[in-house]
Amino acid sequence: MADTNRRQELFDLAHQVKNYLNFVKSLGVRNLPRVQVPPVDPSVIDSFNETLEDIRLDLGDCVRCSLSASRKRIVFGEGHPKADLMFIGATPDETDDQEGRPFSREGSLLTDIIEKGLEIPRGDCYITTVVKCRPPSDRTPQQNEILTCRPFLFRQITSIRPKIICVLGQTAAQSLLDSTLPLARLRHRFHNLSGFPVMPTFHPEYIDRHKERKRETWEDIKLIKERLRG
Ligand code: SF4
Repeated sequence: MADTNRRQELFDLAHQVKNYLNFVKSLGVRNLPRVQVPPVDPSVIDSFNETLEDIRLDLGDCVRCSLSASRKRIVFGEGHPKADLMFIGATPDETDDQEGRPFSREGSLLTDIIEKGLEIPRGDCYITTVVKCRPPSDRTPQQNEILTCRPFLFRQITSIRPKIICVLGQTAAQSLLDSTLPLARLRHRFHNLSGFPVMPTFHPEYIDRHKERKRETWEDIKLIKERLRG
């Protein structure tokens, strides 16, 4: 048992290092210094200070990946620019694609989770997705699409600096944490993404179809609530 735990810890550690290096790379760092020199280049320092508006402007009418061909609108994200809590799903759905807003469907369970479960206004959180354009027929985004869009997500995280990130569903959790583990093994514990605590839980649409998962979701949300309240 001790060996298994140790192996899991080493596995997690290796993933955290990999995530950190990907994160740094997405900010424009191409080489890590071997001797004592200024640790990051000035353009990276600038990116730490950029606003969500700067990032949206840079994204523009993006055609960086093939998802641009079928989308109606880019769904960049919405909410408080300095939110303590950030939610990240995998992709916009059909309604989001039309509205240009994430989790925009009337009566979205995510709104209930935030307002009834966490007892905070939805507008106090920031909500976004791993890829900003709806894939055709709501298919799972491909790895190249995720990797193309991911720098913008990482820049959003860096700009907002949330206290906690809640990642919704297996695709989003695996993409953000660069993991191949199933959601069942990722959820209900905080992961470290370059200093940001990340809690994976079920996607609201999945909970709608699998009501038996509601209790487990609330258990994850409870951990977030406790940590937010210190
Ligand atoms: S998914 Fe992201 S990278 Fe691809 S076109 Fe949309 S905004 Fe650009």
